[in-house]
Amino acid sequence: MNNKGMVFLVGAGPGDPGLLTVKAADLIKKCDVIVYDRLVGPKIIAGAAENVERVFVGKESNNHSLPQEEINQLIVQRARQGKMVVRLKGGDPFVFGRGGEEAEFLRLNNIPFEVVPGVTSAVAAPAYAGIPVTHRDFTSTLTIITGHERPDKKKSSIPWEQIAAGKGTLVFLMGVENLGTIVSNLIAFGRSPETPVALVRWGTLPDQEVLTGTLHNIVDEVKTQGFRPPAVIVVGEVVKLREELRWFDNRPLSGRTIVVTRARNQASRMVAELEGLGAQVIEFPTIKIKPIAAPGLQACLTKMSEYSWLTFTSVNGVKEFISQLHELGFDIRDLKGPRICAIGPATAAEAESRGLRVSVIPPEYKAEAAADILLRHMEAGEQMLLPRARGAREILPVLLSERGIRVDELEIYEAALESSVSAHALELLKKAEIDFITFTSSSTVNNFVTLIGAEELPRLQKEVKVACIGPVTANTAREAGFNVDVIPQNYTVDGLVQEIVEFESQRL
Ligand code: SAH
Repeated sequence: MNNKGMVFLVGAGPGDPGLLTVKAADLIKKCDVIVYDRLVGPKIIAGAAENVERVFVGKESNNHSLPQEEINQLIVQRARQGKMVVRLKGGDPFVFGRGGEEAEFLRLNNIPFEVVPGVTSAVAAPAYAGIPVTHRDFTSTLTIITGHERPDKKKSSIPWEQIAAGKGTLVFLMGVENLGTIVSNLIAFGRSPETPVALVRWGTLPDQEVLTGTLHNIVDEVKTQGFRPPAVIVVGEVVKLREELRWFDNRPLSGRTIVVTRARNQASRMVAELEGLGAQVIEFPTIKIKPIAAPGLQACLTKMSEYSWLTFTSVNGVKEFISQLHELGFDIRDLKGPRICAIGPATAAEAESRGLRVSVIPPEYKAEAAADILLRHMEAGEQMLLPRARGAREILPVLLSERGIRVDELEIYEAALESSVSAHALELLKKAEIDFITFTSSSTVNNFVTLIGAEELPRLQKEVKVACIGPVTANTAREAGFNVDVIPQNYTVDGLVQEIVEFESQRL
C-alpha cells in the first residue's frame, strides 16, 4: 500500500506507552509528520524517528492552542504534500476526540484516511484505578458522557433524566470543572446522593491519582484536595470494587519518583524494574561509555595461553573487550586458555552470552573479594589479563602483584561525563519532587554533581534520599555531601532496587 499523501487518525491510548496498539506504534515509527494533542504522553512521541516532523496542536480545556479549523487545514496540507500524516490523539480518536469531524473534513477534501482505534481513557483510567466499568452484580450498562458541552449550547443535549435513572455506570470525560453541575443534575433527576463516585487523574501514568467519594460529598472533596483535571469521573456502584481490586496505584513504589543516573545504554533494565514496581523514573544519564582503543590488546591476544585468568569487572568491559577483539580480526576461540572471573552476576551473564564460560564469580562484587578468591586459585609467577575502565581502582592489581602475580591491565573504555544532558531531564529534576537518586558507580556520583551545578545541589542533598549500589560508591557519595540511605547487601542493580522497596515499605 502506498501510504503517501494519506492521513491516519490514530488513538495513542490513555498514557501508559504499553497501551499503545501495535499498529499505532508502527505508524508512529514510519510516518513523516505527527500532529498530536496535549494528552499524548511524551514517551509515546519519543518513539518517533528523529527526523519526523512533530506538530503540537495543544487543546487544553477552554484553551485550544490551535483552532480546530487550522488543525484540519494543516493535516490536509501536509497530506497534499505527499506526506504520511499521523494525527495522534489521546485515548481513542472517535471518543470525544473530534476524530469524526477531522475524518469528515478529509473526506470532503478527498484525502484518503484510515482510523486506528485506541484504548480510551473512559475505560482504561477506571481499570487502572481498580474499577471495572461493568460488573454483572452491579450494572449492565455503561454510558460515556462529555462533561464539557460546547459553551455555546443553550440547552443541554445530555439526557440527564435517562442517565440519572437506574444504576448504570456513568463515565464523564472533561468534566472536572463542571463537576458541580454534573452532580446536581444527577441528584435532581433521581440518582441517589449516596452513589459512589471516583475521579481518576492522569490514569495509567505513574502519577495517577484517585479520589473517591459519593455524589453527596465529592464536590467538597475535590475542593479540599485541590484535585485538578485531566480526570475521568466514574459514577456508579462499581466504584466500590476499587477497595478490593486496587492494583496499580498501590504497588511498592507507586507515587515515588526515582532518578537513574546510569549511562543511557545501561539503564534500561533498571528503569524497567523500577517502573514495574510503580515508580516514576527520571532518566538522567551522567556517564557515556567511550571505547578506548587499547594499544596493548593485540599483543595480549597473541599470548593468550600464557594467562591463567581473564577477569572482567563490568558488563561494559566484556562488551568492549569482545568488540575490540573482533575489530582486530580475532574471535572468542582465541581466548582459549585462561579461566574467566566475572565480578557480579550481570558481568558474568554478559560473558556467558558471548559464549564464554565463567569459572568464578566472587561472593562480594568488589575488587577486594575478587582478589581474595583469585589468590586462592593463583600462585606467584602466574599471569592475569584485566581489561577494564580507565581510572578504575588500583586495589585489585596491587593485591595480586604483592603476591607475585603479573597483572596486565588494559584500559579499554572510559566512563566519560555525559555532556548532552537533556534540558527536559534537568527541568524535571529541578521541578519534580524526587524521592530517590540512585548511583551505580563513583563516576555517576561525581558526574551528577558536575552536571547539576552548585545551585540545585544543596537542596537535593538535603531533601532527597540516596541509594548507592555498594560501599565504594556510597563513600564517594558521602564525600560529595550526600547522606546515603540505602546500600544493598548484594551489590547489583537488582539488590539496589529491592533495597529501595524495603526502605520505602518501612517508611509507610
Ligand atoms: N479521546 C480521548 C478523550 C479526549 S477528551 C479518550 O478516548 O480517552 C479529554 C478527556 O479525556 C480529559 O478531559 C479527561 O477527562 C480524559 N482523559 C484522557 N486521558 C486521560 C487520563 N490519562 N487520565 C484521566 N483522564 C483522561
